[in-house]
Amino acid sequence: MTSIFTATVLGSPRIGPRRELKKAVESFWAGTLDAPALGAVARELRRQSWTDLRDAGIDSVPVNVFSYYDQMLDTAAMLGALPDRVAGESTALDRYFAAARGTATVTPLEMTKWFDTNYHYLVPEISPSTRFTLDPSKVLGEVEEAQALGIAARPVLIGPVTFLLLSKAIDSESSLLSRVGELLPLYAELLGRLADAGVEWVQIDEPALVADRTESEIATAGEVYRALSAIEHRPAILLASYFGDLGAALPTLAKTGVEGLAVDLVAGDPGALAAIPELAGKHLVAGIVDGRNVWRNDLTESLTTLETLRGSARSIAVSTSCSLLHVPYSLASETGLDDSLGSWLAFGSEKMREVTALATGLLSGRDAVAAELAGAAAALASRAADPRLHDRAIRERLATLKASDDGRRPAAERREVQAAVLPLPLLPTTTIGSYPQTTAIRVARAALRKGEIDEAEYLRRMRGEVADVIALQERLGLDVLVHGEPERNDMVQYFAEQLDGFFATADGWVQSYGTRCVRPPILFGDVRRPRPMTVEWTSYAQSLTAKPVKGMLTGPVTILAWSFVRDDQPLSESADQVALAIREETVDLEAAGAQVVQVDEPALRELLPLRAADQPAYLDWSVGAFRLATSGVADATAVHTHLCYSEFGEVIGAIAGLDADVTSIEAARSHMEVLDDLNAVGFDLGVGPGVYDIHSPRVPSVGEIADSLRAALKTVPAERLWVNPDCGLKTRGRAEVEASLHNLVAATELVRAEL
Ligand code: GLN
Ligand code: ZN
Repeated sequence: MTSIFTATVLGSPRIGPRRELKKAVESFWAGTLDAPALGAVARELRRQSWTDLRDAGIDSVPVNVFSYYDQMLDTAAMLGALPDRVAGESTALDRYFAAARGTATVTPLEMTKWFDTNYHYLVPEISPSTRFTLDPSKVLGEVEEAQALGIAARPVLIGPVTFLLLSKAIDSESSLLSRVGELLPLYAELLGRLADAGVEWVQIDEPALVADRTESEIATAGEVYRALSAIEHRPAILLASYFGDLGAALPTLAKTGVEGLAVDLVAGDPGALAAIPELAGKHLVAGIVDGRNVWRNDLTESLTTLETLRGSARSIAVSTSCSLLHVPYSLASETGLDDSLGSWLAFGSEKMREVTALATGLLSGRDAVAAELAGAAAALASRAADPRLHDRAIRERLATLKASDDGRRPAAERREVQAAVLPLPLLPTTTIGSYPQTTAIRVARAALRKGEIDEAEYLRRMRGEVADVIALQERLGLDVLVHGEPERNDMVQYFAEQLDGFFATADGWVQSYGTRCVRPPILFGDVRRPRPMTVEWTSYAQSLTAKPVKGMLTGPVTILAWSFVRDDQPLSESADQVALAIREETVDLEAAGAQVVQVDEPALRELLPLRAADQPAYLDWSVGAFRLATSGVADATAVHTHLCYSEFGEVIGAIAGLDADVTSIEAARSHMEVLDDLNAVGFDLGVGPGVYDIHSPRVPSVGEIADSLRAALKTVPAERLWVNPDCGLKTRGRAEVEASLHNLVAATELVRAEL
């Protein structure tokens, strides 16, 4: 009889509490750390993470959630599905990293967002010639390592259905899910090996089943888990879902023979569980502690929910809603927090303790955790009563603004007004905002942080960078200039640091992909802009040139997408508040003389809900927030926006809805196809399809840029076409940028002459 656990998490952060893994992996890439030394760092991080979980009272510890780069890539490696082009690398680790980040001769796998989180996974490529083979060494190794430490290890695998649905089919039109039959024997063999190793529970993740799935996909998932659970020699299976409700897939999965189901009770609806009689025979892992946000749990309310679930399952374990990969390690290093704010939050280690407190409360009654319940209740009460959460003046202004018409004239009329005040050549050239973040910039920022230079010296150096970038753009002959964003460490954090209502953490790092980590700000209160944020920079840049300089702002949706957001009001309300702050900034920029203001929304598509039924409401409020942010300026002021992707999918209509005078978008990698998509929805505003890919150091030739422009002109009239790179230039080197933009201007002149 399998033992029943009571408290768990679905996964843990792995980059290291002080980003040790990032540093070790980057040293390995640089050749200053060898593979055994890298392995030792990794082993120590795993040991620390597992023992922390155990010491917090977690009685089933997820293993195989460690990764050198990404869990989908690990799964591809486990299933023998790395692309053929990495085969030439000498070791398994080299092949792995070649697939992750490429080499001089190998193109890496594509990267894309992991559901609606800010984590990015590598997209495995599966072609008709892929022959799946099992390499269980990583998972078996971690199990053995954990067992040696006396840890109750529960290995975690990505399930075959999610693996195939999230992979990319190469040279084939048919759905990859049709190949699930090839994977089943491998998973079956693996389950046997895990049973041999003494594993009691295995967690198989199928998050793809919380998105909209066809009946046939759900049926396939049902068959897969019927087959896997029919195997005799295997551990108990915990089938895990997260980021939403299983919906129609839940009854199908509950009818299979898996022993446990993990469900997300934060994004999903606990009420749905009562209607599933088959759950009565299952171990229910109730994901009630939010694994994606940083707020302290309302333990009393959670206990109530857990108690109502008691009748619907054979047994219940308390868990996080998803892996803790998506939150920082611990609050311990956040010394800059004021006491009340500190008491409202829970990062990874605090969440483990919430889980165990709830498990104890469920098992032994509320009295057993009276102190924890009281602590959480006091924190919640202090949060609810904090004056920073409700600014009457802001809320009243918003209500008034939203009740009135946005007041902008139709785009075609604006175009005429704008052309009159700011005459530009056909095919105006511009850039997306940032210029290379040079070593000098990084050195200055670090020196300021360490107190080696003062604010005045820092500003002096940044102004020097702005002057250089303006001089460069004049030399190159660009038409609409930018200040280059040297003063911004990050396009969201920069604004969050200046707005009331946000808190920037000291050490709240979260893995974004591979060794890249981000420190999302925390939105905790009503948003207010105490003073202008960017006006001095733009005005200074404008003072150096007779050409127009674009003001450069980040839009409300993107600011929210890359922050931890309040959970005490709808996201739409928070978006409107941020929009109001950005609107005030656009108005100030205009008053300071800016004729063009760009409001970037690269994350507009990222926040799109997973289920189609939830999408229209989202598009409605997100587009509304952008318009609120950008409709405060006069018709003569051109509003630009920038989007970082070219496959619009469901958001295509929303792009037109933004009503920006000019939209610059990624297009180079998809050969301008995006323009057809825009035409298909009647988009008739200005558009700047990126004419070269900034993700690569390659300098595009005049000929190829000219060809791209000619291609674009087949779909977009010259009066509406702008010329720009794909995205900001901050990750590129100075020399490449200069050469590439030189060619961009030359190609534009060539094509203008043909008009
Ligand atoms: N203005 C920003 C930049 O140029 C836009 C970045 C982005 O699209 N992610 O860096
Ligand atoms: Zn971009």
